[in-house]
Amino acid sequence: MPKITRVRCIRTRVTGTWVIVKVETDQPGLYGIGSAHDYNATGAVVAAVEEWMAPRLIGRDATQIEDIWQSTFTSGYWRSGPTLNTALGGIDIALWDIKGKEAGMPVYSLLGGPCRVAVPCYAHASGRTLQALEDDVRSYLEDGWQYVRCQLGAYGGGGFREGDAAGFPREPLAGQARAFDDETYVETVTGMFAYLRDKLGYGPKLTHDVHEHLRPNMAVSLAKRLEPFRLFFLEDVLPPEQLAYYRQIRQQTTTPQAVGELFTNVQEWLPLISERLIDFIRVRVSKAGGITQAQKIAHLCEWFGVQTAWQEGGNTDPVNQTAAMHLDLASWNFGIQEENGFRPEELEAFPGHPVLEKGYLYPNTSPGLGIDIDEAKAAKLLDPERAARPRYVAEDRRADGSVVRP
Ligand code: MG
Repeated sequence: MPKITRVRCIRTRVTGTWVIVKVETDQPGLYGIGSAHDYNATGAVVAAVEEWMAPRLIGRDATQIEDIWQSTFTSGYWRSGPTLNTALGGIDIALWDIKGKEAGMPVYSLLGGPCRVAVPCYAHASGRTLQALEDDVRSYLEDGWQYVRCQLGAYGGGGFREGDAAGFPREPLAGQARAFDDETYVETVTGMFAYLRDKLGYGPKLTHDVHEHLRPNMAVSLAKRLEPFRLFFLEDVLPPEQLAYYRQIRQQTTTPQAVGELFTNVQEWLPLISERLIDFIRVRVSKAGGITQAQKIAHLCEWFGVQTAWQEGGNTDPVNQTAAMHLDLASWNFGIQEENGFRPEELEAFPGHPVLEKGYLYPNTSPGLGIDIDEAKAAKLLDPERAARPRYVAEDRRADGSVVRP
């Protein structure tokens, strides 16, 4: 019975936003690693792990994952927030790593065994013009990718008006150079898919991420207007505050819906799944509270015809990606995996990381997660000055200066 002796966080990446939780035990060489990254509230997550959760875990049997999850989840009375879920998720993923190493099996074997040989992923293509976007999509298709997310730039791309066209009031908000406009966005994105299908045909599986920018009725309208272009899914067309509008979307269009990367509470995903209002659940594994909670979500989804598409993308780390990959391999109702775009020098700090090839992610057969952290290389990646800077999500605003919720 390995007892937990130490729980600590290792910050890495140049920004210090990757937080790797290391859980050490009294068995020689037996430890686990998990992901507790949070791009914006990084220090808060580190404090939650080290100052608040770690002390009550010292001396506990590291193999009692379910009980540690349940008792930690409620140990602060208030629960289900992004910071505490992420901290718990990092510890939980590390405990699964330990359990796998103790059993001599990869985590995907402990979760039921693999039901696919590799994990299909989708790439992120973008461009400020239709031609640039088409070129980027084609470059992925030529590299063997089958699934590609298509964006006209970053958050809200395609929905901004600039200069006189923005319709600013007499005294615009200081520094505001552009304005997000719902009608512009819906027109532009509809035209974008008309263009891409005309150029590329209907073979490539295409997705789009709205980043929750639209008013609810415009979200319903966009989902309807995109139906002829047969998306693989439309992502985050509504913010967490307006999920009830998915009932309207479901009644009016067959455009497949994917949502969940902002979810941290069971009451956010439960109605969408049990009422069959969505097609893909996109919770981030660490934000859900780790593998323990994510596997329960996957099993729930199976009975309602919902598939998994665990969120990854630009901010997450190789350990979180690996945790998602183990779930992908063992979940029959897996749908698609978002890719990350790690740099080679970043991956060098994570020996055993999954291998990405032509749009497929491949595991190794090592016990546990199969990924480790080289702490010396991880330390070299980090720039202390950049890590100390506060970070906030970019603020998009409408012409009158009001904030658009991301
Ligand atoms: Mg997204």
